Amino acid sequence: MPEPLTALITGGAGFVGSHLCRYFLEQGHPVICLDSYLTSSGGNVKALLGRPGFTLVQQDISITGAAKQFAPDQFPEKIGFVLHLASPASPKDYTKYPIQTLQAGSMGAQNALEIASAHGATFLLASTSEVYGDPEVNPQPETYWGHVNPVGPRSMYDESKRFAEAITVAYHQAKGLDVRIARIFNTYGPNMRLDDGRALPNLIPQALRHQPLTVFGDGSQTRSFCYVDDLVEGLYRLATWKLSPPAIVNLGNPQEVTILQLAQEVIAATNSHSPIVFRPLPQDDPKVRRPDISRAKQMLDWSPKVSREEGLRRTIAYFKEALRGAC
Ligand code: NAD
Ligand code: UDP
Repeated sequence: MPEPLTALITGGAGFVGSHLCRYFLEQGHPVICLDSYLTSSGGNVKALLGRPGFTLVQQDISITGAAKQFAPDQFPEKIGFVLHLASPASPKDYTKYPIQTLQAGSMGAQNALEIASAHGATFLLASTSEVYGDPEVNPQPETYWGHVNPVGPRSMYDESKRFAEAITVAYHQAKGLDVRIARIFNTYGPNMRLDDGRALPNLIPQALRHQPLTVFGDGSQTRSFCYVDDLVEGLYRLATWKLSPPAIVNLGNPQEVTILQLAQEVIAATNSHSPIVFRPLPQDDPKVRRPDISRAKQMLDWSPKVSREEGLRRTIAYFKEALRGAC
């Protein structure tokens, strides 16, 4: 059996990245976790330090020369997979870091593609359902081109990822690179930051503290939440399975829910006394979102297994611990 190839994971210390690092290690791959700690601290990968095959590199992937240290003459170990996850991902984070967000999808993506190219590695881009913008079709299939405001409050993220997709496809067209694009839909689970600002890292700690749950707008907007273990399994299959590039695949859980219902489920699951309060809906907040996962089912034999009830139970347990640590 061939030796499992090394995976370089940018953004590996973040929420999704830390689970992906662990999963690749568990499958026998050496892992290089590269992160600048822009929106993380290193705490998520602390448990992986010292594990055989795990290397942590603090580096900004977007700066000029970031690819040089991994050039084969500097870095003789063969890299088999480059997974580019580095990017602010929550609306709160990309609003705070608009330029770094655009750089992560442009210079950062190109540096990561250059590393993959130099090693003849498979490249996987962590893209997003945000490329569909505020969609006019629901659910969203991969063939949908999207409905994106190029100068709105979410544009730094949406356009960064749309550019990242375009340059990924260009490396395949121009250089024959084996590329795969995962359009990731809302994902949740342990290792999200308490101050991440996304729906569940806000709502669960609010409920656990018996504080009001903040629902934006009237809560009728929908999302479809995927538990992180399911996503990571999908990402691993997309990276490692024999597929014809460019393989562009939605990964998410098609169980759609309104944000108001989600808040009510969180209150019930935490036995909380919290009320729900309504706050203004941010501009351009997508009204609906639900993945069409027919392609993932067909190409990867993948579909999510963890119910929202079970995923919330595990995530609530994690946030209980995180709040204890924060006291
Ligand atoms: P996260 O903020 O927890 O992780 C992102 C990581 O990237 C952080 O550790 C951060 O420090 C690092 N990073 C940012 N810029 C960097 C740079 N220039 N160089 C090196 N490291 C850098 O976010 P996440 O939720 O884990 O998202 C990971 C990826 O998945 C992102 O690309 C995001 O766009 C994508 N994604 C996530 C979701 C989701 O629901 N979690 C949905 C769609 C897409
Ligand atoms: N949201 C909310 N209350 C919060 C945080 C988010 O009602 O405290 C809403 C937000 O307006 C959006 C949905 O929850 O409609 C999902 O937001 P999130 O930031 O998690 O991700 P998005 O899908 O918008 O990128």
